[in-house]
Amino acid sequence: MSASDYAALTPGSLPARLGGLDLLTRRIGPAEGWQVEEVGDGNLNLVFILRGSLGAAIVKQALPYVRLVGESWPLPLKRSFFEYHALQRQAARDPGSVPELWHFDEAQALIVMEYLSPHIILRHGLIAGKRYGGLGERLGQFCARTLFRGSDLSMKAAEKKADLALFAGNIELCDITENLVFSDPYFEAALNRHTPGLEAAVARLRGDLALKVAAQHLKMAFTSQAETLLHGDLHTGSVMVSERDIRVIDPEFATYGPIGFDIGMLMANFLMACLAQPGHAESPGARSGYQSWLLSVTAAVWTSFEAEFTRLWREERQGILYQATLYEDQRHGLASEIARGERLGAIWRDALGFCGVEIHRRILGLAHNADFERIDDVALRAACEARALALGTALIHSRHTLSGTQALLDLAARVN
Ligand code: ADP
Ligand code: MG
Ligand code: MG
Ligand code: MG
Repeated sequence: MSASDYAALTPGSLPARLGGLDLLTRRIGPAEGWQVEEVGDGNLNLVFILRGSLGAAIVKQALPYVRLVGESWPLPLKRSFFEYHALQRQAARDPGSVPELWHFDEAQALIVMEYLSPHIILRHGLIAGKRYGGLGERLGQFCARTLFRGSDLSMKAAEKKADLALFAGNIELCDITENLVFSDPYFEAALNRHTPGLEAAVARLRGDLALKVAAQHLKMAFTSQAETLLHGDLHTGSVMVSERDIRVIDPEFATYGPIGFDIGMLMANFLMACLAQPGHAESPGARSGYQSWLLSVTAAVWTSFEAEFTRLWREERQGILYQATLYEDQRHGLASEIARGERLGAIWRDALGFCGVEIHRRILGLAHNADFERIDDVALRAACEARALALGTALIHSRHTLSGTQALLDLAARVN
């Protein structure tokens, strides 16, 4: 099948186009009874819920452009290929963490997968003030397993280098991160926008030369520290939750990059969820207990990452780095533990920096988040966002000195 055979699906054409797939009809029933609903909440791709007499499926198809913007912003279909390969690896490295993959059609840039139900997008749950047991713990574990097992700490050299080459092709989605995340917030980029009332905060940020330099150091870490296969877009809109289950979706930005990137982005999104709560409170102060819970989730992401990374370091370090044989003659594995501590320290510092940058770009760049956007009172929204901007700046400046999760929470509590 050539690339010219590609055609975007519509709810009307979907049963005829996919009705012949045995794996699908076996799972959800014959195509005659299918009902198709388009999900409208993603930014880049087409997503359909397909319901049949026996069950349901998700069909996700890339478009040759950004769905939200249109044909004026072309984006390669190949992102679907990277998403599929990333999902496969995440499923192997952390079983049960992502939707089950049922089918992939490269020419049509489409993935058929398990329909998660009754799950909702985590970000929506956080705006509504819902708590999920073990949330930070599970996501920290996901980070540790996928990031450790995708790296030279774990993989065979040939396999790792083949994956590095494979994902190096995800150029255009990396370019989005490189520009929208790491550069645009720090100058008057054409695609930027911000809430009225933030002018003074923006001027402060743009006048902070050390901050602008640090952001480019972080960008260089993103482009050059090819440590592991990242999810690449691990915010609370890429997590789906039910009362009993937590899953990660949408890894189309997958690329080799620094271990701290996914962790920092995730922590940033919990911190923003926390700082946005005054805008969603039923009455003043009504969400303060919930804010404390969100801070504890932020800390748990790191603590749980650290614990699981430590376990994997001790039990599964079979790659080319820090070989156990180097340390065998050291009593009680002391050298290996020193190396682990120093490695975790470097990941922590990277994560804090990426956390700060992610906060800045969600408030000043193109892609904002619903946590702040759904605050109708513009002055209240600006006040919440100004605190978040200040936190982002403080995190970037203090990333080399902030000593642990308690220090991070203290910093967040001070701006709030
Ligand atoms: P995009 O890349 O366009 O952001 P996503 O993969 O984030 O697309 O999917 C868009 C939306 O579709 C999600 O926010 C979610 O509501 C829904 N969705 C995606 N995958 C699933 C799934 N496996 N089960 C249930 N809903 C899903
Ligand atoms: Mg998405
Ligand atoms: Mg989405
Ligand atoms: Mg996406």
